[in-house]
Amino acid sequence: YMETRLQKIIATTGLASRRKAEMLIASGRVTVNGKVVTELGTKVDPDRDHVKVDGKHLENAQPFVYLILNKPKNVMSTLDDPGGRPTVKNFLHGVSVRVFPVGRLDFDSEGLMLLTNNGDLTQALLHPRYHVPKTYLIKVKSVLTDAEIAQLEKGIKLEDGMTSPATVKKVRKAEANSWVEITIHEGRKHQVKRMLEAVGHPVIKLTRVKMGPLTLGDLGSGEFRFLTDREANALR
Ligand code: URA
Repeated sequence: YMETRLQKIIATTGLASRRKAEMLIASGRVTVNGKVVTELGTKVDPDRDHVKVDGKHLENAQPFVYLILNKPKNVMSTLDDPGGRPTVKNFLHGVSVRVFPVGRLDFDSEGLMLLTNNGDLTQALLHPRYHVPKTYLIKVKSVLTDAEIAQLEKGIKLEDGMTSPATVKKVRKAEANSWVEITIHEGRKHQVKRMLEAVGHPVIKLTRVKMGPLTLGDLGSGEFRFLTDREANALR
């Protein structure tokens, strides 16, 4: 019969990464046929041996779920709104697992939102130390000059300090430079709007099109899709 390393069996359920599975084993939270196993690399037969993590059968463990939603405008990026406005939860038809948004998008912003039940990953991605790049397609009032674009890229003085270097790409020649794509590596509240406001070009429309390795692509407004394994792995 097939024998597999214990940490691999735990990792393939989606319960934890390989590294995390090793930590679970080493810290005595894993039992095989009722006995605590702390030895990494212990061979088990997934069809015959009973593996439990924190007293729960692996088969009952909740696998990790990752999805991206194209949040429409005028929708809260939270799961609940005390004011009764629509939230991202209203768009997750058929998703039976409780997933949580990774970060926020303004009520009037739209685009890519990552949702997952992987709490550790959420914490990591939101930590400023990780600098996950986020790209926004924005339409601003009137036309950005090259000098203003250079300033946005170098750093803008906001009330909460200088912004770190950003990348700005002009798009849609037909409308001069009213459409730009800006990539930032931090995520302060209303950051992109405040940066554009500071150079005299209020934001008219803002769509997040990329976050780390994830791309919105042709996902329609209000639609979601589960990440591919490759995409989910690229997040970790
Ligand atoms: N920057 C903003 O100003 N708003 C968003 O929703 C996202 C980034």
